[in-house]
Amino acid sequence: MALLRYRFLYMEDTVFGKIIRRELPAEIVYEDEETLAFLDIEPVSPGHTLVIPKKAVRNIFDVDDETLAAVMRTVRKISPAVRDSVGAKGVHVNSNHEPEAGQVVFHLHMHIIPRMERNAFEVWPKTTYASEEAKDIAARIRKELS
Ligand code: 5GP
Repeated sequence: MALLRYRFLYMEDTVFGKIIRRELPAEIVYEDEETLAFLDIEPVSPGHTLVIPKKAVRNIFDVDDETLAAVMRTVRKISPAVRDSVGAKGVHVNSNHEPEAGQVVFHLHMHIIPRMERNAFEVWPKTTYASEEAKDIAARIRKELS
């Protein structure tokens, strides 16, 4: 019950819920029964598009397979149009889950971010593993999955 109430509240409170319900304006570029795609209000680059499910899910930790599949179908379908609309060569498809990972709006969304050239950005800084660290972490992930 508490979980249901929580899910209802965050859906009602997110700006994306308001965009779905047309209570907030957005530059919508695609819509189907399960998903909506619209321009990000503060684009990383022109054409930066967000794809969201209409269903109230917070992020990767509570989404069901069908909803995620619908979102990714839309990402696949519209990525070439997003890329070509601004004459880009490629796109990032990425997503943030929980505040520590940069999630600000708590309604699942995929970013499609057009990129013109390779050298204009650093996706993320790389590090290296200390000895045995990779083995240890991989073993812990496998254990969590078993
Ligand atoms: P996050 O950091 O949660 O992965 O990304 C949220 C994204 O939503 C940000 O890139 C932000 O610019 C975008 N955003 C936040 N509020 C609005 C809004 O009201 N309208 C639109 N179109 N985008 C928004």
